[in-house]
Amino acid sequence: MQGLISHRSLFEPRSLKDALAMLRDEGPLVPMAGCTDLYVSLNFGTLKETRFLNLWRLDALRSIAISGDALSIGALATHTAIIRSPLVRKRLPMLAAACREIGGVQIQNRGTLGGNVANGSPAGDTLPVLAAADAVVVLQSAGGTRRVPFNAFYTGYRRTVMRSDELIVAFELPRIHGRQWFRKVGTRAAQAISKIVMAGVGPAAGDPARIALGSVAPTVLRATRTEELLARGSSIADAQRALAADIAPIDDIRSTADYRRRVAANLLARFWNDTHRG
Ligand SMILES: Cc1cc2nc3c(=O)[nH]c(=O)nc-3n(C[C@H](O)[C@H](O)[C@H](O)COP(=O)(O)OP(=O)(O)OC[C@H]3O[C@@H](n4cnc5c(N)ncnc54)[C@H](O)[C@@H]3O)c2cc1C
Repeated sequence: MQGLISHRSLFEPRSLKDALAMLRDEGPLVPMAGCTDLYVSLNFGTLKETRFLNLWRLDALRSIAISGDALSIGALATHTAIIRSPLVRKRLPMLAAACREIGGVQIQNRGTLGGNVANGSPAGDTLPVLAAADAVVVLQSAGGTRRVPFNAFYTGYRRTVMRSDELIVAFELPRIHGRQWFRKVGTRAAQAISKIVMAGVGPAAGDPARIALGSVAPTVLRATRTEELLARGSSIADAQRALAADIAPIDDIRSTADYRRRVAANLLARFWNDTHRG
């Protein structure tokens, strides 16, 4: 273990109100949820920050419920809670599918949806689901609440619009009509970071198809040109060419740009075949 614990301090709020007041009055503080990402940085010695805010006891942020016509998932909902939730399985099965492929059971038991999103890795498995679902990120500070469309949340590699006095408190997921689809391609079925990950919603009830990919650009992205071509009835070959322009993969330790481009094209064809009725 590279990171010394002794010179670090921990704030332990008992309620969300306390947590937001601590962020306002004592900040900057690093929020800690399940710590599955933070602990890796601590272990590598790359975690420079020394003051932390423990969110783990804030049960109010674990709820999974219907709010109006949207599915609302608290930021502290773990991957296990999401997999087990009848509401998620009914309304957003592609999210349960993504959570099932995250790490192993121990990571699913501790890792949270809010942590996956705030961590901002372009390989985060839930991110393409939230992008394809047109999710809304609910941010709260001591001064109030604001709602940010998930597709406007990231501003660059691991950069977001969230301020240092804000927490992600929940995600709101509007009702989806089309067939939901999720695929992760990694080295093995568990404990593998994605080489490429894709989520999509097939066309239905007048809504065009929606397609989002991870691990193919500095941030998760919606394949907007591809979506436009499919909505106009173009061939899948043309849509695959558009997808090559939508994404910007790189060579890295997990894969090559060329492999990612080819797999993305194959996944698109599979998605269309599985979800397009008509
Ligand atoms: C062995 C292993 C395997 C893994 N496999 C996968 C995988 O297959 N797929 C995948 O996507 N990820 C994987 N991960 C990464 C990690 O488990 C997930 O990203 C997880 O969802 C992070 O959640 P957490 O609650 O543990 O976040 P934490 O580690 O507690 O926090 C992560 C970041 O988010 C911030 N944060 C957390 N909650 C909030 C909040 N509510 N508001 C504002 N900021 C917040 C923290 O300050 C920190 O910067 C793996 C990690 C490990 C160690």
